[in-house]
Amino acid sequence: MSLLEVERLSKNFRGLAAISDVSFAIEAGTITSIIGPNGAGKSTMFNLITGYLPLTAGEIRYRALRITGMATNRIAALGIARAFQIARPFRDLTVFENVRVGALFGKAGPRDVEATTRRALELASLAALAEQPASSLTVGQLRHLEVARAIATRADLLLADEPCAGLNPTETAAMIDVLRQVRTNGVTVVLVEHDMPSVMEVSDRVLVLDAGRLIADGPPKTVATDPKVIAAYLGTPDAA
Ligand code: ADP
Ligand code: MG
Repeated sequence: MSLLEVERLSKNFRGLAAISDVSFAIEAGTITSIIGPNGAGKSTMFNLITGYLPLTAGEIRYRALRITGMATNRIAALGIARAFQIARPFRDLTVFENVRVGALFGKAGPRDVEATTRRALELASLAALAEQPASSLTVGQLRHLEVARAIATRADLLLADEPCAGLNPTETAAMIDVLRQVRTNGVTVVLVEHDMPSVMEVSDRVLVLDAGRLIADGPPKTVATDPKVIAAYLGTPDAA
């Protein structure tokens, strides 16, 4: 059984088909990247999985349970967490206190809060900064904080939307390391990322969206040499 199954999913915004008949499954313990040009539907896919947007057609299952149409908080309580592109910490709280919020309101409820918080901080390479105020963190460290807060909820599936956007190469490498550590510790990761070297290096599998359609799905090396994918990125007409 796959952890997450997306079946014939479509999402229209008025006239625009943001997601068109997309099917895929995510296996537990993997890192899957979703790539594609701007506007391809990557963030919309996350909004549908987390229940932030209603879908137009199709079905989404998590651990074989149909989550289509469920409220966002119920979906989160099942173990799906999203790390936001724009980190929104409580700036006056410490790093520890920020992550503690995730542990308090997470899937398991307020149980082993301190230990869960410490573990999330370690996985996100933030243990040394635990007592600093969140307002003192760099942009790169704030992204780590978002991941720590998400996994402190004891999520089993982490959706990360462009966690490396705007980061320099060193910060990007650090974030990729964090995602790898998170996966090693039993959290399945779905990553939306533009930095191709990072995607190629970290992903077990790559899904390619183009104008709402899934045009490729496979191991990174296969996808990178797929003519349809190259055409989508170069903007060649009639790519398929
Ligand atoms: P990506 O994340 O791949 O860059 P998005 O999923 O954000 O793309 O957007 C896919 C398409 O859907 C775009 O054309 C975008 O303008 C449109 N879109 C996304 N969200 C909304 C919304 N809430 N209302 C209307 N159109 C939207
Ligand atoms: Mg996006």
